[in-house]
Amino acid sequence: MSEVTKLAYGKINLGLDVLGKREDGYHLVRMIMQTVEVHDTVVVETNTTGEITMTCDNDTLPVDENNLCIRAAKLLKDEFNFDGGVNISLTKRIPIAAGMAGGSADAAAVLKAINQLFDLGLSKKDLMKRGLLLGADIPYCIMGGTALAEGIGEELTRLSPMPEAQVLIAKPPVDVSTGQIYKALDSRKSYEHPNIDALIHAIEYEDVFGIALKMGNVLGDVTMPMVPEIQKLIEIMEENGAIRAMMTGSGPTVFGIFDDADEMEACRKKLEELNLCENLYSTSTIV
Ligand code: ATP
Repeated sequence: MSEVTKLAYGKINLGLDVLGKREDGYHLVRMIMQTVEVHDTVVVETNTTGEITMTCDNDTLPVDENNLCIRAAKLLKDEFNFDGGVNISLTKRIPIAAGMAGGSADAAAVLKAINQLFDLGLSKKDLMKRGLLLGADIPYCIMGGTALAEGIGEELTRLSPMPEAQVLIAKPPVDVSTGQIYKALDSRKSYEHPNIDALIHAIEYEDVFGIALKMGNVLGDVTMPMVPEIQKLIEIMEENGAIRAMMTGSGPTVFGIFDDADEMEACRKKLEELNLCENLYSTSTIV
């Protein structure tokens, strides 16, 4: 038996715009994705029984076919029919249903681990193609770093890496359904679009202040009235040293960009004292 450990990193959206909707219901997006250091740990071990099993330290998550880890392993087993199976052990740290693509990151980690353990010889591109069968964010999670995601999120263009910045991540104790948020957006006649091109320019100039100032998320106007805690977290972060704070994905997680680690730590302590968050992490961007 052999095993591989993969770190499955979460992402934040520095920018998120919605351009329309495909006939099959998927939304056409223009998003700037950025990997952060907050990660789940995925250990994949081979077994001789041929079964695909998993355990997870968070008992609110399913450990059957509803978990993206199991689906990722089955996808490769069905296609390559390698000898033996795998036992997956997932340690969860990325907030769940929080706009940080945690499930997609875990699935990406399982695909990479199985490729390695069974010598499948799949390139990154091959893995990304298979990941897309399971979820639109999985190709990005395989690629990582700073990227523009278009189409339904699967058309990826690598951008110059965002300079390292301190990121405070705070999830209020509220769950939002991504589907519900997109539906509410669809029912609006018009909405204000963030300037994704200006954000890309700021990234090219490696200007953290410019990036923070140009960040925008079209879904903010939809989720924030439903979850007042989001605005509150943004205000607290911006009053306590964040260059800017914003919601990631469909929310409700808020992240603040700081250029000073001490200020971020003071802000984290303040939020901890206020007891407003289910998850609170001081982290940084990674490439
Ligand atoms: P995105 O940013 O792509 O919208 P998200 O952060 O909103 O993702 P996830 O945490 O990836 O959402 O998970 C959303 C749902 O997917 C959860 O409610 C959970 O039941 C299911 N799920 C399946 N597998 C996993 C996994 N390994 N980790 C987390 N959630 C998973």
